[in-house]
Amino acid sequence: MRIPLMAGNWKMNKTVREALDFVAGLKTQLPDTSGVDVVLCPPFTALSDVGRAITGSPFELGAQDLYWEPRGAFTGEISAPMLWDLGCTYAIAGHSERRRVLGETDDAVRRKVAAALASELIPILCVGESLEERDDGRTERILQTQARIGTMDITAEQVGQLVVAYEPVWAIGTGRPATGEEAGRIARLLRQWLHEWFGEPAGGVRILYGGSVTPDNIAEFAGQPDIDGALVGGASLDPATFATLVRASAR
Ligand code: PEP
Repeated sequence: MRIPLMAGNWKMNKTVREALDFVAGLKTQLPDTSGVDVVLCPPFTALSDVGRAITGSPFELGAQDLYWEPRGAFTGEISAPMLWDLGCTYAIAGHSERRRVLGETDDAVRRKVAAALASELIPILCVGESLEERDDGRTERILQTQARIGTMDITAEQVGQLVVAYEPVWAIGTGRPATGEEAGRIARLLRQWLHEWFGEPAGGVRILYGGSVTPDNIAEFAGQPDIDGALVGGASLDPATFATLVRASAR
C-alpha cells in the first residue's frame, strides 16, 4: 500500500525565524501523523534550521530544487550531497516555476531526478501542462514527454522511490484547481505510462496532485485511487491550514 505524502512547498517565503515559528505551530497542530508522510520544503536558507527543529518529529525535510553535479564551479547552485548532508530526504525537480520562469528544460529535470536518487534523496518530479497547451488539446502529449524524459535515467529498481506531482500550470497559485475527477484521470494515465516503461514496480510510485489545494477541496483529491497526496504551495504556509490538509489525507 502506498502511504500518502503531503509536501509543503514554501517557495521564496519565510525567513529563518518565520520558518521556525511555523515548525513550532505544526508540532502543536499535528502531534500524530500516522497514515501520512509530511514533508516541508523551505527555501535553501532555512533548510538547516528547519532540519534541526524537526529532528525527532515525524516531519521530513525537502529541498525545492537541486543541481545535478555533486560539486564544482557552479556558482549559486546546491548539490544533492549537500542537501543530504543537511538532512533532506526529498527534493523537488522540475517545478513549473523553475521550468517557466527560470528556463529549466526536460533534460535538466532528467539529470536532477537521477542526481537526487544517486544521493538517496526521493525526487518529487513535477509535470504539468499550461493553459495554452491544454486548450490546444496537447495535455497528454506534454505530460507524457515530461514524465518520460524526467524518468529516462532511472531504473526499475529505483522507480518505486519516485514521487510524481501532477501540477497543471493553470491551477498553480490561481485559486482555480483541477477537479478531483480530472486530476484522478491524469494520475491514472501517468501510472499507466510508468507501468509501460518500468513494469510492476511502477505500482509503488506515489502520484500527487498540486494546484490551489485548500481545506475546501482536499477531500476531492484524497478520494481518488491513483492520487497519493498533494504538493501544496500557498496553503502550506500556515500551520493550521497545512495541518488540516495533512489530516484529511491520512489513509
Ligand atoms: C506549488 O507551488 O507546487 C503549488 C501547487 O502551489 P499552490 O498550492 O499555491 O497552487
